[in-house]
Amino acid sequence: MIEAGLGLYAIAIPALLLALLATAEVLWPRRKLVLGRKRRWRTHALFFVSNAVLGRLLSFFVVIGVAATWAETNRFGALNVIALPLWLEAVIAFIVLDFAVWFQHLAMHRSPLLWRMHAVHHSDRDLDVTTALRFHPFELIVSTFYKSAIVALLGVPLVVALAFELWLNANALFNHSNLRLPRKLDSVLRWFLVTPDMHLVHHSTLMDEQKHNLGFALTIWDRLFGTYRAVSIRGTDGQDIGLSGIHDDSPSSFLWSMNQPLT
Ligand SMILES: [Zn+2]
Repeated sequence: MIEAGLGLYAIAIPALLLALLATAEVLWPRRKLVLGRKRRWRTHALFFVSNAVLGRLLSFFVVIGVAATWAETNRFGALNVIALPLWLEAVIAFIVLDFAVWFQHLAMHRSPLLWRMHAVHHSDRDLDVTTALRFHPFELIVSTFYKSAIVALLGVPLVVALAFELWLNANALFNHSNLRLPRKLDSVLRWFLVTPDMHLVHHSTLMDEQKHNLGFALTIWDRLFGTYRAVSIRGTDGQDIGLSGIHDDSPSSFLWSMNQPLT
């Protein structure tokens, strides 16, 4: 019963958000897509299916769940040693985990081995809500074990760890969407949260710009560590998306994308 509830939580809520954002993209698109939807969406749906089995379920049911439960029963991890109200534990855990995810993203762009996996996400030549599903299973496995280690070390309560996972998914769907937000809303929002225009800079074909705007939810880490960039030097509308060497439609093929880290 609990598993069924978690399944609903882990899949149904992000799926609903994805449908809402996909509809909003049709109504208020930011840019015209280079490769279009049909093949990309099919490929990203296949990414979702493979990651649902390997990554999502692994992260929700096994690793994060086990790490949080294990830490709680063994009184392991910082938050299990000191007694704090749940809301305060949640605030601390969200901030620490958000930083950990920012740091992992930095590492993905610095380490040649990790970059091989993460480059699959960047090879998409367009950005829309489905790009948030485009993570190679290798990368998802690495990030699941990494996050679980942080959850155990910090002693994050299970309910908080799962809420963070949902929050992270929701933010990734939002900031990858091809959505034109009112300029004013974007500029207010990006003081706290990564907006689609802000994340767009990170998906630039220019290597230097890929090393900026590494946040997945909060913008504080990029502002604090000097990796914040408001807009591409080519401008929001003139900016190309993807990897500099790829000019054809191969990233919209699932097999090509799965094979990309090995080439
Ligand atoms: Zn990246």
